[in-house]
Parts: sequence; C-alpha cells; structure tokens
Amino acid sequence: MTDKNVLVIGGGVAGLSAAIELARLGVRVDLVEKSNFPGGHAIQFACKAADKCVKCGACAAEEKLRDALEHQNIRLLAGAQVQNLSKNNGKFSATVQKKPAYIDPKKCTDCGLCFDKCPSGAILRGFSKSHSPFYSLCEEKCLYVKDKSCRLCEDICPESAICLDKPGESYRCDPDAVVVATGFTPFNPKNKPYGYKVLKNVITNLELERMLRAESRAIRPSDNTEPKRIAFIQCVGSRDAQLGHLWCSKICCGSALRMARLIKTRQPETEITFFYMDVQTFGKDFKVFYESVQKDIRMIRAIPGDIFKTENESLRVTFLNPPTHETMDEYFDMAVLSVAITPCSDNKSLAELTGLEIADSGFFDSAGAKSGQGIFTAGTAQRPMSIAESIASAGEAAWKTMRYLEFRNEK
Ligand SMILES: Cc1cc2nc3c(=O)[nH]c(=O)nc-3n(C[C@H](O)[C@H](O)[C@H](O)COP(=O)(O)OP(=O)(O)OC[C@H]3O[C@@H](n4cnc5c(N)ncnc54)[C@H](O)[C@@H]3O)c2cc1C
Repeated sequence: MTDKNVLVIGGGVAGLSAAIELARLGVRVDLVEKSNFPGGHAIQFACKAADKCVKCGACAAEEKLRDALEHQNIRLLAGAQVQNLSKNNGKFSATVQKKPAYIDPKKCTDCGLCFDKCPSGAILRGFSKSHSPFYSLCEEKCLYVKDKSCRLCEDICPESAICLDKPGESYRCDPDAVVVATGFTPFNPKNKPYGYKVLKNVITNLELERMLRAESRAIRPSDNTEPKRIAFIQCVGSRDAQLGHLWCSKICCGSALRMARLIKTRQPETEITFFYMDVQTFGKDFKVFYESVQKDIRMIRAIPGDIFKTENESLRVTFLNPPTHETMDEYFDMAVLSVAITPCSDNKSLAELTGLEIADSGFFDSAGAKSGQGIFTAGTAQRPMSIAESIASAGEAAWKTMRYLEFRNEK
C-alpha cells in the first residue's frame, strides 16, 4: 500500500509506535513532533533495573525511537507543528511549520562546547544517543533570537555546525488519514503546599527520572550531595476533586516505587519514606514487586499537608499519622512529588484543528474519535496509561487506520 500516506501528530512512544506499525505495512508516514527531541516523556526515563529487569518500559522508548529513525517510510519532522488541516474529496491537506535547523547534524560532533559556553542556557541537551544532533537551540532563551546580541555558539563551534540565520521551513503533506498521539502534560505542582520551585530540594518524579538517567543516583539539587532521607509523595494532582482531576494517573505508584528501589540499591544508606493514598498495582508482576519492595521502603498511608524549609535546605514534612490521627512532623533531605498525568496543554487547539472531541476529563474522547473520517487517537492523548499500554494503543490505532485506508480503497 505504498501510495498511502498518514500524518502522525506527536512523536512520543505512542506516535513512534503507530508510525512504525504503519511504515512496516508500506504506508508513508509524516511524523510531526513539536519538541526538538523526539521520544516524548518516556525517552527521558532511567532504566530501573537493579539486580534484574523490573519492566519499567524505558528501553522500549529507545527501541521505538531507533526503529522510527531508521525506517525509510517515515519522515520525522522534529521541532515542527501542524498549522492547518483540511479535507477535500477524502484526502487531507496539511501544512507543517518546522523550526530552523540551527545545528547541522552532519557537521555536529556532539562536543558540547556550545552547551558549556552559552551564557543564557539556550543550548539544550538530548536524552538519547539516537538524538542527532545531541544538542539543539531553545529559541525562547536564545539571545540572538531575542535581540541579535550574542553569536557565541556560532563563533566557538569548532566544526562550524551552527548557523543562527537559518530560516524555518514549511512542509505540505496530503495524508489519507491522521493519527493524533500528542500525549500528556505533567501536572505543575506550583500551587500545591509543597514549595515546588521555592524549596530547592523539592522535585517532581519526572525530574528524578531525568536525574537518575543522567547521574545514575539521587542527588540533592541544593548542594549536589547524596540525600540521606527521601520522601516520595504520591497523587500530586491526581484523584483531586478540588482540581477536577478525578482520575488515577495509574503509572505513578509503580514508577515511584521502582525509582525508590533503584536508589536503595545504589545508595543503600538512604532511607526512603513513601506517602500514599493507596497503592495502585497494575499488572500481575507488580504485586510480587510490591511485596518485595516493602522490606526496603517505609510506607505511610497519608498524604502530607505541607512542606517547610529547615536548616541547610532540608525539609519538614507534616502529615496526619494514620493510626493515631495526630499531626506529625518528619525531616527529609529531599522530597519527590509524583505529579499527575494531565491532558496535553495543546488539546484545545488540536481539537479545533482535527475536530476531535474532548471528554470532561480534558483527554481526547477515544469513543468519539473520528474513525469514520480518518482521524484516530493513540496513547496518553486518550487517558493516563503506561508505556506498554501506549504501544498497544498505537498498534490498535494503526490497525484501525489500515482498515479505514483499505475500506476507502475498495470504494
Ligand atoms: C514521571 C513519570 C514517570 C513515568 N514512568 C513510567 C514507567 O516507569 N513505566 C511506564 O510504563 N510508564 C511510565 N510513565 C508513563 C509514560 O510516560 C507514558 O506512558 C508515555 O510517555 C506515553 O507516551 P505518549 O506518546 O502517549 O505521550 P508523550 O510521552 O507525552 O508523548 C507525546 C509527544 O507528543 C508531542 N506533542 C504534544 N503536542 C504536540 C503538537 N501539538 N504537535 C506535535 N507534537 C506534539 C510531545 O512533544 C511529545 O513528544 C511515566 C510518566 C511520568 C510522568
């Protein structure tokens, strides 16, 4: 079916998987990813294997990214967004606007000089070895983009790989069908009473994922030392009636416990306390893992009320002690907030672009997906789900897309 073309919007694990499935069936795919680095959230995660694989799924994201980059039927447009989408006589027409390719992947040797020297922190580092170039430019922070006051990266690059005057590019594609796999936005806990972005040693689970991936251990942001006591706080922004977030984000208990276990293995002196509402155990293997993990981790069934700063940037966490119902204080060197999976912040504009319906939760209503009209959804654009579930959902979207294309062929 090589004459068919599908537009996949979103290059996370779901979008990559849908693109690969379709490409393997002979369909040409334009895969449009908004961020400079494809792979979505999962490409930022650490492998959580301590003594053996704990099936966290992080390696699946690497594999999908590699496979998509290698497949000749997939054209990956990173740093790009679909500007408009229309349909005429059964065929879509889309315009994709791509940011300038400031760093030439053919010349860049990943030496990192631009990253080290940039005065405004505008050079970003990729997450995976498959990210080529491994560095990219953040336009919002770049002084040249702002007022043309700095060209340091261009001047110092030993390979002349950087050109700040590159224009953006516009692409036109005429897909037969569209898959929307634009994922989720992690909940921003700035309005919760936990001092996020005020207290240096309060971080989110996503930040811990990146830290474990880059440094292989937990370190206190305030002084780069190893924390002796860490508090994990679950359900930050999930199952929260005040916010209207009634859903469980499903993956946080498993992900946080796997990270806690990894830290205990690599930094055995660290004491870990896990504050939770109730532990969601999805999948048959998780039950066994959960039982074993409780030997190393102190579990407290309570959600803390506040976090206060104490000496040396340490933290005082207050909570209601479940057996006695008395308010208690405990001291920690670092706290990790397990933030909710919330609907992608682009959902409103994507709904306008595609005509997809948004459910009360804010996720795309998968039941109301425009299957008959050739628009499908995949992954966490539909609801919170794990990497494995996102891949399965992408397979289902690819299968439905093929059915739609075949049906149109027969007509
Ligand atoms: C802290 C944390 C830890 C987790 N740990 C685990 C774990 O250990 N195991 C597990 O199975 N799951 C885990 N998850 C869940 C996992 O992140 C998701 O299952 C997975 O990332 C879903 O992939 P996705 O492609 O649906 O979405 P995303 O990863 O969100 O990818 C969506 C992509 O679409 C792009 N996009 C968004 N809007 C647009 C647009 N308008 N145009 C173009 N592109 C767009 C985004 O830039 C992004 O690259 C964790 C989640 C969090 C928050």
